[in-house]
Amino acid sequence: MIDALKTAMARLPVLEPGHVWLAGAGPGDPGLLTLQALAGLGQADVIVHDALVDPRVLALAHPGASFEFAGKRGGKPSPSQANITDRLIALARAKHRVLRLKGGDPCVFGRGGEEALALAAAGIPFRIIPGITSGLAALTIASIPATLRGVNQALILVTGHCGDGEDAIDWGALARTRQPIVLYMGLRNLDHIAAALMAAGLDPHEPVAVIAAATQPEQRILISELHRIVAETRELEFEAPAIIAIGAIVRVRAKLLALAGRVAEMVA
Ligand code: SAH
Repeated sequence: MIDALKTAMARLPVLEPGHVWLAGAGPGDPGLLTLQALAGLGQADVIVHDALVDPRVLALAHPGASFEFAGKRGGKPSPSQANITDRLIALARAKHRVLRLKGGDPCVFGRGGEEALALAAAGIPFRIIPGITSGLAALTIASIPATLRGVNQALILVTGHCGDGEDAIDWGALARTRQPIVLYMGLRNLDHIAAALMAAGLDPHEPVAVIAAATQPEQRILISELHRIVAETRELEFEAPAIIAIGAIVRVRAKLLALAGRVAEMVA
């Protein structure tokens, strides 16, 4: 290891007994972990993780660490958010070194904010460690720039998983911004969302990318258009986790791949 990296590793924070680190594990590929998350994996004696955390990341844990799964899996009832925060508090009070590991960034559609509030209210010392959120990683891995001068000035990160209640999303308002939309948890409601965007005036031929299992061995990328994206994702049996990007930035991929074909380093 080069000296500068050794020095950086030696300066990483120490996970003390009784403390909780609320960390993002990134989109899957362990190469996209932060050094701080890696330090947490090396020091934690209990790791409480979600279904989205890649097994290759969990494999980097300290050999003595125990794992607790907290999340949805295979239709079985998932622990409630209150149960999870109670468990984190109990583990910390029992003087464990606790790593709460979530896919992507802990605070982007990941309930990291809620968990931090609960830990703070209970007086548990904690640290929040950012991770690479899947919405951004999926675009980049698919050779779609999140922003491009002259194409977009903003990027909308939005959940497709929300009801009609107080969390209801005004898709028409988002469409009218003419800025690209990056949908998390979007597959299930995609028919409703695509219809609402088109009803608000978005071009039916607006390019769409679906990136499933970004940076994982099962990664799949589909490039399509708004009016046929629902039929195609069904036909090709796209499954969660997937990021759906809608907007002109998606067109850059084809250009980039055509050009990159001429250089040695290929892109996804
Ligand atoms: N905190 C996470 C998001 C959790 S919400 C983050 O910052 O990435 C769960 C949604 O994230 C999934 O439904 C999917 O839309 C997205 N997601 C998470 N990991 C993904 C991956 N590797 N590839 C594609 N989408 C992913």
